[in-house]
Amino acid sequence: MPIATVNPANGETLRTYEALGEEEIERRLATADRTFRTYRTTSFAQRARLLRRAADLLDEDTADVARVMTTEMGKPVRQARAEAAKCAKAMRWYAEHAEVLLTDVEPSAADVKDSGADRVLVRYRPLGPVLAVMPWNFPLWQVIRFAAPALMAGNVGLLKHASNVPQTALYLEDLFRRAGFPEGCFQTLLIGSGAVEAVLRDPRVRAATLTGSEPAGRSVASVCGDEIKKTVLELGGSDPYIVMPSADVGRAASTAVTARAQNTGQSCIAAKRFIVHADVYDAFAERFVAGMRALKVGDPLDEDTDVGPLSSERGREDLEALVDEAVESGATVLCGAERPDGPGWYYPPTVLADITPEMRVHREETFGPVATLYRVADLDEAIAIANDTPFGLSSNAWTQDAAEVDRFVRDLDAGGVFINGMTASHPAFPFGGVKRSGYGRELSGHGIREFCNITTVWHG
Ligand code: NAP
Repeated sequence: MPIATVNPANGETLRTYEALGEEEIERRLATADRTFRTYRTTSFAQRARLLRRAADLLDEDTADVARVMTTEMGKPVRQARAEAAKCAKAMRWYAEHAEVLLTDVEPSAADVKDSGADRVLVRYRPLGPVLAVMPWNFPLWQVIRFAAPALMAGNVGLLKHASNVPQTALYLEDLFRRAGFPEGCFQTLLIGSGAVEAVLRDPRVRAATLTGSEPAGRSVASVCGDEIKKTVLELGGSDPYIVMPSADVGRAASTAVTARAQNTGQSCIAAKRFIVHADVYDAFAERFVAGMRALKVGDPLDEDTDVGPLSSERGREDLEALVDEAVESGATVLCGAERPDGPGWYYPPTVLADITPEMRVHREETFGPVATLYRVADLDEAIAIANDTPFGLSSNAWTQDAAEVDRFVRDLDAGGVFINGMTASHPAFPFGGVKRSGYGRELSGHGIREFCNITTVWHG
């Protein structure tokens, strides 16, 4: 894939970039390694000052960087601004909390005595340069979610961003430089995916995090497995959204529209499979379909656009193939499913019903504004369908019944269970999945500790 900005709203190539050569990659790895040796000794207060400065600069740049994101990957510009604001919030959160999250831990006096020590403590020390391989769908947020805790922990970051968002990738490097981080704390490597293996195998790179598809995750994890390097993987999702009879069906349906269509449906934690109890199925379906139909599809730079183009022609073809296969296999189209004429990689908000387990939409991720609807007879069937997926990122369930809540929290096989709401990430809560959605956690104390050398310090 060329490294280029191609506007998804019209297919126009606006800018192309040469990939870095071996010599330049070597220079940057050497810089990261050198910088880490001193940056690791800085105090939390020094790091926090720089990160807060980066947040302030991002606030000032919001309108400009939002337009860049929209032009590179097509997200509605209002949502791009919200993404920038969320990034600034996460940076401030880690600036404020990192020191406490990484404070030394003392085991119990009884255990210390039992080990024969006078004193024992567990210290979270930084690991070193970490490579982040990131996707285009939230081109700022995915990176900040990694970078803010990594930099606060004393690590340095190397970013291999998706090839279709090079301007956003370069903006991020520039942001941290302008904030005053020493050269080498955060560097963007403009490289194709074929060049990732050599970087991962370099001994100066100590760990890797990847957010993206399953094949990319498998490839990075295989190389890191071979090199015995730590990885965190945030991969795809096909989150269930269950609606039970006691739910507020109106609120469940309107939230469902946002949960499915946010970011033009290209979100790993978007609700994708809507599993509705027969008693409220018709009422939910009617409102949900009306809400999906009412979304304004159009130019992502327009302030009132809800759904923009998909990020690439390939993305639209893949989504369309999933829908077409389902329809040919007997799925009922409640709205959408027809690609519009004209320029840009648009695809309409689509709802499919009468889904069977043989259809690809049942097992695979729909990365665009396409929802599948299931009618179920009871709680057990709802949970069985919810878990009948290779993925396990998050899950959503709507009910007012406390016993049902207990069952969902106990039995939904995912990294998140959101009751009477839609999945959203927050800096204070762990984020990540199980099964083919990956492993490890980002955000919160769990996220910042993933790339630490958790060191036992024993005093005799
Ligand atoms: P992708 O093709 O896997 O790309 C993601 C990143 O991996 C890009 O930087 C890409 O570089 C790189 N890459 C691809 N193949 C690679 C390989 N073999 N070795 C090393 N790097 C490789 O994913 P995408 O299509 O852009 O993003 C959509 C996927 O990401 C969906 O499945 C979505 O659910 C998932 N996602 C997950 C989360 C989460 O937090 N769990 C969040 C957002 C998205 P190039 O661009 O140069 O190919």
